[in-house]
Amino acid sequence: MSDCLFCKILDGEIPADVIYENDTVLAFRDINPQAPTHVLIIPRQHVGTINDIEAEHEMMVGRLFSAAKAIAAEEGLSEKGYRVVMNCGEGAGQSVFHIHLHLLGGRGFDWPPG
Ligand code: 5GP
Ligand code: ZN
Repeated sequence: MSDCLFCKILDGEIPADVIYENDTVLAFRDINPQAPTHVLIIPRQHVGTINDIEAEHEMMVGRLFSAAKAIAAEEGLSEKGYRVVMNCGEGAGQSVFHIHLHLLGGRGFDWPPG
């Protein structure tokens, strides 16, 4: 998608602090971190929102979570705990319409979330 920010990061058009990648996903640090660790985990394939996820994407979605687990371990968060969030739609705070997991850690988190 030519007008998608995260597709531009995938294409190298916009720089990012990439910390993890494989053939399915890319992960980089959020430009406006909300916790000591705030990483965005995105699929290489453009899918706009959770509402656009189809059966053919299920393996890819699983690999987003496998990446979250690996990155949490690298960041020393596995035992302390961390939060994984995917916003869906503007009403939930989604601002970039290319699905992404937020991996947040290094501080406490309230429940319910704001
Ligand atoms: P959303 O609001 O869609 O759930 O999350 C989008 C995230 O992308 C936000 O946390 C925002 O700070 C982050 N973000 C927006 N633009 C950029 C950018 O150019 N680079 C990086 N690394 N993160 C970005
Ligand atoms: Zn995209």
